[in-house]
Amino acid sequence: MKNLWNDRDAAKYQGDLGLRVYTSRLLGRDPSLVLHGGGNTSVKITETNLVGEAEDILYVKGSGWDLATIEAPGFAPVRMPHLLKLAKLPALSDPQMVNELKTQMTQASAPGPSVETILHAILPYKYVDHTHADAVVTITNTPNGLDRIKEIYGDRLVIIPYVMPGFDLARVCAERFAAEATDKTVGMVLMNHGIFSFGATAKESYDLMIELVGAAEAYLQKQDAWILPLASVQTSKTSIAHALAHLRYQVSQVAGVPMIVSCDRHEKSLAFAQRDDVATISQQGPATPDHVIRTKRIPQIGRDVAAYKKAYETYFQTEVQQIAADKTMVDPAPRVILDPELGLCSVGRTAKAAAIVADIYDHTMDIIARSTALGGYQALPAKDIFEVEYWDLEQAKLKKGGTPAEFTGEIAMVTGAASGIGKACVESLLARGAAVVGLDLNPDIETLYDRPDFCGITCDLTDETAIATALEQTMQTFGGLDMLILNAGIFPASAPIASLPTSQWRQVMNINLDSNLVLMRDCQPFLKLAPNGGRVVVIGSKNVPAPGKGAAAYSASKAALNQLARIAALEWGGDRIRINSLHPNAVFDTGIWTEEVLTNRAKAYGLTVEEYKTNNVLKVEISSRDVAELAAEMCGSLFAKTTAAQVPIDGGNERVI
Ligand code: ZN
Repeated sequence: MKNLWNDRDAAKYQGDLGLRVYTSRLLGRDPSLVLHGGGNTSVKITETNLVGEAEDILYVKGSGWDLATIEAPGFAPVRMPHLLKLAKLPALSDPQMVNELKTQMTQASAPGPSVETILHAILPYKYVDHTHADAVVTITNTPNGLDRIKEIYGDRLVIIPYVMPGFDLARVCAERFAAEATDKTVGMVLMNHGIFSFGATAKESYDLMIELVGAAEAYLQKQDAWILPLASVQTSKTSIAHALAHLRYQVSQVAGVPMIVSCDRHEKSLAFAQRDDVATISQQGPATPDHVIRTKRIPQIGRDVAAYKKAYETYFQTEVQQIAADKTMVDPAPRVILDPELGLCSVGRTAKAAAIVADIYDHTMDIIARSTALGGYQALPAKDIFEVEYWDLEQAKLKKGGTPAEFTGEIAMVTGAASGIGKACVESLLARGAAVVGLDLNPDIETLYDRPDFCGITCDLTDETAIATALEQTMQTFGGLDMLILNAGIFPASAPIASLPTSQWRQVMNINLDSNLVLMRDCQPFLKLAPNGGRVVVIGSKNVPAPGKGAAAYSASKAALNQLARIAALEWGGDRIRINSLHPNAVFDTGIWTEEVLTNRAKAYGLTVEEYKTNNVLKVEISSRDVAELAAEMCGSLFAKTTAAQVPIDGGNERVI
């Protein structure tokens, strides 16, 4: 456990709250301490309010903020005296507690205070740090975890048995802490949950956290339960693309909405999924309540989603309904799937959610493997886990989610995505909630966006093997394919037929036509498995209905592609795949419109470049974004009952009209 404190960096942060921001970020930088919004920190500050009174304020991490990136406005200021009175109440429902916390804030625009706010308030120290450190939960989640924790920390920590987060936990901690804390106390362990450290300064509290978690790591090392030998794994070299697409189809059916399935086949994940005891150790439950909501109760083993659903429904009826009849079932789809061949598949409504599941389970595998080496992994009993899974506050959060974007959970592939219309299509699809795979010959595509819902792949579309590789990567990244935007194409320099080189003709046909045939053909088995039906949008050209002189190869290639799309519409309608084309004209903010091409085309029509740009009935200029928005709409509900349509986007062209 590395202490990341640096005096020079710390000096850049002003005041008590500033240093609270600094050390919170230090904690957030270590994923073995906190992951994706997990953990929380606070500082108690006396401030003078508007009417001149001194007030004790608890600045505690607000919900929606991540410790790694938190800023001062991410801390919610709550009045201390009221929190201390609340802690003495015999009972308080969680929704009531949330209301009390919100209404005692001194800043209306601040985020909602953490559900662990009262717990921070009752600890009589200026700075309080709380993490769900892997090493600590590894030890608490074993059959004799309590003895081990006592052995490591002696009387330095107050130990709290597991209580679900929320008001009851705060109350239990207040009682225990008052009864058991001594002048030797520097922290508190919550069994099956995490650890607290305290201090008079931000540095003291942070240093203690690192030292305490470091002691847990050292203990695991001493017990030979830290660095574990990796079992040799079997990796099949055959394609798993279709297996993944089928799996995602089933998961989406069970969830009732399209889902993203991300496949991780790193050695560690495969080794874990291939363990002889995986069916036992992976079925105990998550490591800490913080992980329950996002990874669900237990992972699915193998590919039988229907069996998982049945088991989940039984669990809901026997465990959940018996205790709380008012609960409605969360969708019974798994969030983690372990398969000896596919490795670790993480499931989410969005690519981001799936990535969070993957990160959490990556740590869970370490925790389980180490606990097992220590004598056995033991998560909470099912009853405690479902109480978190069906927690009022979490259910409220789910309901509050609002209407998701139209393409949430769906995956789109765009060719020629590094620039022009392709890049604009990527943006229009991302804006509608889709996860997008961008293909381009230009390797810049790989770094076009740094976000979990975008995957850029360098791909030569004239190479069938490269297309197969790109599809394999698409399935491993997102699990399926719902939409295909055929945009890549070239527009060669103007050449009359009389002097058209055969090589140019063949090159244009190869890229504009042949590669699209291969793509459509190879994508069809995946599009067939799209939960909402597959969609293909062909970026055609005005040249299809109204060809132009000097553009024989281009016009012929686009016309042939148009015919190909019409036949695909006939052949694939039964598979719920619809194919529509749009015919843009004069879109000049694209890669193919070099200054030279533009000048030549304008000349061919006897116009200036400016006249050529708005040479249409409506006298408007057409942008890449205009085309992209229409392409995205063609994948949406407006066109749900339309296939083989050809829609011009050209400002109105007399030859087309
Ligand atoms: Zn916690």
